[in-house]
This record gives sequence, structure tokens and C-alpha cells, in this order.
Amino acid sequence: MISSISHFDHLEDLDSESKYLVHKAKDATAHAYAPYSKFCVGAALILDDGTVITAANQENAAYPLCMCAERVALYAKASAHPEKRILKLAVVAHKKNHKELSPAACCGSCRQVILEFEHRQNKPIEVIMYGPDKKWIKVHSAAALLPWGFGKEAFE
Ligand SMILES: [Zn+2]
Repeated sequence: MISSISHFDHLEDLDSESKYLVHKAKDATAHAYAPYSKFCVGAALILDDGTVITAANQENAAYPLCMCAERVALYAKASAHPEKRILKLAVVAHKKNHKELSPAACCGSCRQVILEFEHRQNKPIEVIMYGPDKKWIKVHSAAALLPWGFGKEAFE
């Protein structure tokens, strides 16, 4: 599945829809509630009718209750637009009071959740993120983010 991952040195090298979504995700970091980690994360989804849903990470004094931006966005989508398909998800992050983006790949929990959304809609979800090597990563299907990931078929 490695072939389904593309790397880009510069944001400008991505397609216009991906760049647009990255900018929306950046804007969403303004709504992060991150008094503990001081790590502001924004996510943006674009749906098959062009609707964009943005979200930011939401922390809590009881740390395990913190929620990643990606999952806030995905659950908002499922609640408000259950019939629409997700084409693409972008996620970015920066430290509080820093403009420069920090590398932030989706965590394992989010990968599992994105994968289930992909299974539910039976069409791939592209994921754009800024990787640890400071290159932009475009994954053409969430399945590539979680090799051997399992879904509801495990219970059938
Ligand atoms: Zn996560």
C-alpha cells in the first residue's frame, strides 16, 4: 500500500482542493482548546457536495477525555451529514502562539476511526498531513494508514 502515499516538499505542490482544505484546517486551529498540551490541531473534511467541516482538538482536565480534531470533525460530519461521502481530510497543528506548523500525523485512534468511516462509505478517504520529516503527505486511502486494521467484519 506504500504506493498509495505521496510526499510533497511544499504545500504549493499539492492540488488546489488539498491546499484549500489545509488552509481551512489551519483556520480551525484557532478554536482549539488546548490549555494542557498547548498543541493546537485543526482538521477539515470536504464532502462530495463541497461542504467543508472543520474542527479543533478539545482537551479536558481529565486527560483521557481529550478529543483529537480529526475525530471531532468526523463525528460532527456523521451527525450533521450522514448521507454525504467524505472525499478528503486534512489535519495540521502548531504550538500555541506559534505560526509555524508542527509536524502532526494522525494518531492511531484517529486512524482506526477514519478507516471505519471509509468502510462505511465504501469509498476511499484521502488524508493530508504534515509529516515528521516536514514533508506533506497525501494518503489516497485511510487503509494505507492502518495496515491490518479491522472493522465490523470482525464481529460477523
Ligand atoms: Zn487522534
